[in-house]
Amino acid sequence: MFTTTLAQRDTTQTSALPLDLFAAIADLKKELNAVILAHYYQEPDIQDIADFIGDSLQLAKAAAKTNADAIVFAGVHFMAETAKILNPDKLVLLPDLNAGCSLADSCPAEAFAAFKAAHPNHLVVSYINCSADIKAMSDIICTSSNAVKIVQQIPKEQPIIFAPDRNLGRYVMEQTGRDLVLWEGSCIVHETFSEKKIVQLKVIHPEAEAIAHPECESSVLRHASFIGSTAALLKYCQISPAQEFIVATEPGIIHQMQKLAPSKRFIPAPPQNNCNCNECPFMRLNTLEKLYWAMKNRTPEITMSEDIRLAALRPMQRMLEMSA
Ligand code: SF4
Repeated sequence: MFTTTLAQRDTTQTSALPLDLFAAIADLKKELNAVILAHYYQEPDIQDIADFIGDSLQLAKAAAKTNADAIVFAGVHFMAETAKILNPDKLVLLPDLNAGCSLADSCPAEAFAAFKAAHPNHLVVSYINCSADIKAMSDIICTSSNAVKIVQQIPKEQPIIFAPDRNLGRYVMEQTGRDLVLWEGSCIVHETFSEKKIVQLKVIHPEAEAIAHPECESSVLRHASFIGSTAALLKYCQISPAQEFIVATEPGIIHQMQKLAPSKRFIPAPPQNNCNCNECPFMRLNTLEKLYWAMKNRTPEITMSEDIRLAALRPMQRMLEMSA
């Protein structure tokens, strides 16, 4: 019941990489009639070659609309699974199968089934950053763009479980005044930002606006002038009169921020330690080279049982209807 399957053929590369990877990928795109969807947290080269760049909601909508025969998903595993849920007949490729997600992993299916059983009569609203198995146990999926809007549409007397991100759940509770039963999951990247270092940065850059993703802890969110999904942060930094921003989300988004607002300065919010922990190690597993090999070899491919897919599709469709 809980296991989605992944089909991976032998990926041993026997030929050399082409000299012009960008041209080779463009040729493969034509050959496969493929579309390349990339998350904002991907490396700049992948963002630049993608047909569509977006956050989880935008990518889910793009995956639902595409007429291509193949979807090359430059993101993490649950995102490629989402594309497969919406497109059972298409070939869905993920450049590196190990591109998982600490947040999705923090909500294992068996444990969540027991949690759900312990809260009968609760509606389950799950953040899209979860496995197909968790989606299949949910009533409505949400993203960071529409979580508040979706919870606001649910009748007040209806008790709700919110999974798997406790920080987004707390943020939704604050915004809606609803009392949600939270699954205690979190993202290793968004929990790494240091409140102390953000405050220090604000002292050094008094004109800078701090902007943050709602997956961050409330100690970080309280210093933000604006809180929103990656797409909302991108839009905000273009319309705000501020010239400097402290960005508390995965720094991959800064590539697009810089492209869309070239005269402005974007300072990545620092992690607690002197490390690169503010970069998602899973997103960074995808590279242009792996993307090329995935298209060339038609693998790794995402597959799942039809039972799970259909069960996961219903709450996805509810989300798309409720956020239209
Ligand atoms: S940034 Fe966090 S939530 Fe997003 S893919 Fe990486 S681990 Fe998962």
